[in-house]
Amino acid sequence: MTLYLEIMEKEGAIERFRRAIRIKTDWPGDGASPEALEAAEAQLGAFQDFLVKAYPCFHRAVERWVLSPYALVYRWPGAGPESGGAPELLILAHYDVVPVEAAKWSADPFGGDLKGGFIYGRGAQDMKGSLIALFEAAEERAGRGFRPRRDLWFALGGDEERSGLLGARNTAAWLAGRGLRFSWILDEGSPVIVDQFPSITTPLALFGVEEKGFLSLELAVDQKPGHASQPPRVQAAAVLGRALLRLSRRPFPARLNPVVAVFFSRLLGLRNPGRSRGVRGGAVLTALGPLIVPFLALAFRGNPQVLAMLRTTVAMTQLEGSAADNVMPSQARAVINLRLIDPWTVDDALNYVAWAVGDGRVNMRILGFASAPVPAHPEHGRMGGPGWDTMQRAAAAAFPDAAVLPFIMTASTDSRHYQELTEGTFRFSPMRLSPGDMSSVHGHDERVSLENFFLAIRFYTALFELL
Ligand SMILES: [Zn+2]
Repeated sequence: MTLYLEIMEKEGAIERFRRAIRIKTDWPGDGASPEALEAAEAQLGAFQDFLVKAYPCFHRAVERWVLSPYALVYRWPGAGPESGGAPELLILAHYDVVPVEAAKWSADPFGGDLKGGFIYGRGAQDMKGSLIALFEAAEERAGRGFRPRRDLWFALGGDEERSGLLGARNTAAWLAGRGLRFSWILDEGSPVIVDQFPSITTPLALFGVEEKGFLSLELAVDQKPGHASQPPRVQAAAVLGRALLRLSRRPFPARLNPVVAVFFSRLLGLRNPGRSRGVRGGAVLTALGPLIVPFLALAFRGNPQVLAMLRTTVAMTQLEGSAADNVMPSQARAVINLRLIDPWTVDDALNYVAWAVGDGRVNMRILGFASAPVPAHPEHGRMGGPGWDTMQRAAAAAFPDAAVLPFIMTASTDSRHYQELTEGTFRFSPMRLSPGDMSSVHGHDERVSLENFFLAIRFYTALFELL
């Protein structure tokens, strides 16, 4: 290809990325009017239509189903001798984004501005950047007549940021209804991280093969409302405060899952080459079990990201009393958000919190959607198993200097809804991010460098070539 054509192609890809950001696929917030909801759904539909117009070669090559504004499915028919067999891979993505506080941005969050080698906008990282990179790679392949060896499926959701109950959950049921199962699934997830851990200079490609569960709990203490001039002797807020204090003094027990053990073994091996040997070192750490946890916490200086990999975490996120300074509340209320590590189930976690609080005056209830942790395919923890080689080779094509590590995702993804359809899931976002880059996800001035955008295209192109 001449340099001129290559530049034109890159310009086109950047322009399509910017257009994707300009489609406002955030949601209007809880308690929005029916009109606002309808307008939001129209934007999700507009995004689905945008893909058709932007990627004509891909759309000529595939079958497409629009299940709703929240769910879009594609089948790219296989052409190899095994094409009649079960499909190998399902790729997941989402086109909704979280809302913005526009006043705190230096750029228009839905403008797709290009400044200093970065594209700015809500969703640039999470995850329109990767989604557009996926479609750019698919369009280029389709334009050259490429067909995967076996059927390749894509499922896109429009409500991942709100738990995926309308999108991913329904799509999973629809796929199951067609009797489909996949050798492995690829969803968004952990990136290639740089400069995250002290004295480790190698970029780390983190394959999120395990995912923590999600549980929001309300803790509430009732009391008779009344005038603040005559408070009762025991007040609801004090009972609630005592409960929260007890909970913070009784953290969930630490645990070293096999995936996490291999992760740390590889990490320590990169820090002290020769001392640790990846999977075998992981087995040693696993044998030491929770005993090793305080050493890991110390070695990584209490890094919250590291601690989150070692136990079920409890985040105290909301606290509420009365609406006025001189009125006793009828209820003091707190919300805690738990991220469950395997094998803690939702029920186990409820029992643990009730035990830690140890006070019958505190009422507990689950808020919203709770999900159990998703354990890894046993082979993925040993850096093998369905999809591992393919993923490793695709990552090497885009990030040749990175070390690949199995990883536990501490955040939730749409892939949790698809667990009945597969044995193993990878959660990986093919971008190279520093801690500063990561802070813009769901934050202000979310942005992606053009370099990362093109690395992601290279990753997906390499991935398709391997399928
Ligand atoms: Zn996301």
